[in-house]
Amino acid sequence: MLYPPPSLLALLPGRWRQSAPDVLNWLLEIPMPMRPCRVEISTRALEHNFRFLQSLAAPDAELLAIVKADAYGHSLKLCAPAAVCAGARWLGVTSVEEGVAARGVGFGPETRILVIAGVFPGQAAAAIADNLTVVAWEPWHLDELQAAARAAGAHPGSVPIHLEIDTGMSRQGATPEALAGLFTRFAPASPLRLEGVMTHLFAADEADGQVTAEQLARLDQTLSRIAAAGLFAEWLNVGNSAALLAGQARTIAELAATHGMKALLRPGLALYGLVPRFDPGFETEPAPLQAARAALQPVLSWKSQIVSVRSVPAGTVVGYNGTFVATEPMRLALVAAGYGDGLDRALGNRFSLLVRGQRAPLVGRISMDQAVLDVTEIPGVQAADEVVLIGAQGAETITAFDQADAVATIPWEIFTRIAARVERIAI
Ligand SMILES: *Cc1c(COP(=O)(O)O)cnc(C)c1O
Repeated sequence: MLYPPPSLLALLPGRWRQSAPDVLNWLLEIPMPMRPCRVEISTRALEHNFRFLQSLAAPDAELLAIVKADAYGHSLKLCAPAAVCAGARWLGVTSVEEGVAARGVGFGPETRILVIAGVFPGQAAAAIADNLTVVAWEPWHLDELQAAARAAGAHPGSVPIHLEIDTGMSRQGATPEALAGLFTRFAPASPLRLEGVMTHLFAADEADGQVTAEQLARLDQTLSRIAAAGLFAEWLNVGNSAALLAGQARTIAELAATHGMKALLRPGLALYGLVPRFDPGFETEPAPLQAARAALQPVLSWKSQIVSVRSVPAGTVVGYNGTFVATEPMRLALVAAGYGDGLDRALGNRFSLLVRGQRAPLVGRISMDQAVLDVTEIPGVQAADEVVLIGAQGAETITAFDQADAVATIPWEIFTRIAARVERIAI
């Protein structure tokens, strides 16, 4: 926004005065410069990652690109089209509202959108209207979906459903006891069709694969029960990034094949260029994991700028409550990023950001909108210098894992709490 000087505005008649800044901006098409705290998204890296992961899964399994939580904070609007462009036929979101947003990006019904955390009361009609495919496991999910499908005039078997099975995580999914009661909802006259059977592997990052093997064994039994009830599902919808990189695509596809199904895996983190950690590590890494380390490219960089630099004498206290005291004459740089942008407050006094290709320690408490860096050892730092919070600068790199390790969390959380006010820009 351009602001003409008040003295100039005073010359204009009253009703022009208000719209003058808008008119000026419209005429000159000058966007207001943004506060320099932004996320850059490499859609090319995302496309590359999807193709690479699909090559790992092929020919056994197809991939669903997980774009829930605004594409792990990377921007649904930027990332979903990149995934589809790279060949994704399926997108995975958390909720009906995220699904509606994904549809709103402009995908036709040929792009399947899976709502992985079910419907909430009253949402079924919107899900059906936007051709969202719902993961369901509660009887009332299926009742609401059935009623909404009938109300929309859906033909028998025309609304595909993915039925989630709890194979051990105890989070969501039908228990073995509840299963039989759900089968009737897919009777031939029902508008609902069992298209997929889904489960979530909750320890796919454990290298010995023991828990996963037990979950798949339970799933196998459940699939037999589903077949015995005279039902058939096309897709076996199982496996996250860790499962894919641990080489489970083949195992899942073989299980699918024994029941006449096709395998659908659901990578998230790997799509955004990070290799999940395995605990404990493998003695010999599976081939897909080795290949992923070399091939995956980080999609997100988080950048800000130096606002100002000041020299302070020894003894100067820095930030709220003076938790940092200068031990010698120092140079301090203010950076335009704070916990209100998603920079964890606990990183203050224990993490460094990149300036001029070097690590500059965060000193004092991180404020809501600002933080202070010690740049004493980095010559030449000045206002408008780029600061990297996640990403590469010169020979140095900060990953989401680095930030996560410093505050005892996981990169998924680091990504998803980058605040909405931080603009996402495609590069
Ligand atoms: C988020 C999620 C995934 C993706 O997990 P990653 O570990 O990021 O690959 C897969 N399946 C379900 C059900 C999820 O909720």
